[in-house]
Amino acid sequence: MRERAIARLTSEVLGGAREFLAGEGFVELLPVVLAPVTDPLRTVPDRIVVSAYGQEWHLTRSMIFHKQAAVRVLPKIFTFSPNIRLEAAERAQTGRHLFEFIQLDLEVRHATREEVMDLGERLIVHVLERVRERCAAELRALGRRLPRWAPPFPRVAWSAAVARYGEEFEAALSQESGTPVWVVDFPIHAREFYDREDPHRPGFLVDMDLVYPEGYGEALSGGEREYLRPRIEKRIRAQGLDPAAFAPYLALAEEGLYPSAGFGIGVERWIRFLGGLSHIQETRLFPRVPGWPVRL
Ligand code: AMP
Ligand code: MG
Repeated sequence: MRERAIARLTSEVLGGAREFLAGEGFVELLPVVLAPVTDPLRTVPDRIVVSAYGQEWHLTRSMIFHKQAAVRVLPKIFTFSPNIRLEAAERAQTGRHLFEFIQLDLEVRHATREEVMDLGERLIVHVLERVRERCAAELRALGRRLPRWAPPFPRVAWSAAVARYGEEFEAALSQESGTPVWVVDFPIHAREFYDREDPHRPGFLVDMDLVYPEGYGEALSGGEREYLRPRIEKRIRAQGLDPAAFAPYLALAEEGLYPSAGFGIGVERWIRFLGGLSHIQETRLFPRVPGWPVRL
């Protein structure tokens, strides 16, 4: 039964990720669902805001600001963070978009992009091998033969990916690649204000995406972060946003943030890839696909 096989595979992914990150010295935090400020995500303009106790609360779109705050307390943190993103209904057709999903979101104080890319490769291979070892029956039931990967994964600069495939390179790059592939150095306009601008290459960011092979598309996004208040405020203004809307975050930056790097990997997309599933809705017993009816 597919549902049962996928649920067991999911449990191995969560267990494998926790096991790997504990071995790397990470501490797991509980997630935040309601917050006074959340990820601006200009590509997903609609948002859910609720009023309670005389103030407004955003449903979490990502825990980026909370991660930066958390590495003030602990050097290596992760959380399985529920994200609500009101994706356009057309995105139901991509097979990759839910409007409620879970990110394994992690952050490391004083880390570089190189260090978190290395960590990401080892995490993904660890989970792949654990699933291969413990889910043989489930993989058979799903008709999935898992690939074998040896890091480091190849890298392509954002500008080279665009030159080859155009701005919407994700699908073509994913189709053509036999292994996961890193896309690095996005231009400043393509991302949110919190990714760190490269001091040696103004206009480009010290960030990255990882794209799955076999057409499964983006796996994770991350990078180094801006952490100095004046720079954050400048970046907010440059994107036409109002710094007042980010007051709690800017207040924290005023007190002092550490340099850090991290990434967020979509858990349902990970399961979709490992299970060889054609649509992400199969990864959840209670999927939230934009525009589709729900049973429960
Ligand atoms: P982002 O930082 O916006 O790239 O989100 C981090 C990761 O979450 C992405 O790399 C995806 O794996 C996953 N993700 C983002 N949006 C969605 C969505 N609408 N449905 C499922 N997974 C998503
Ligand atoms: Mg992304």
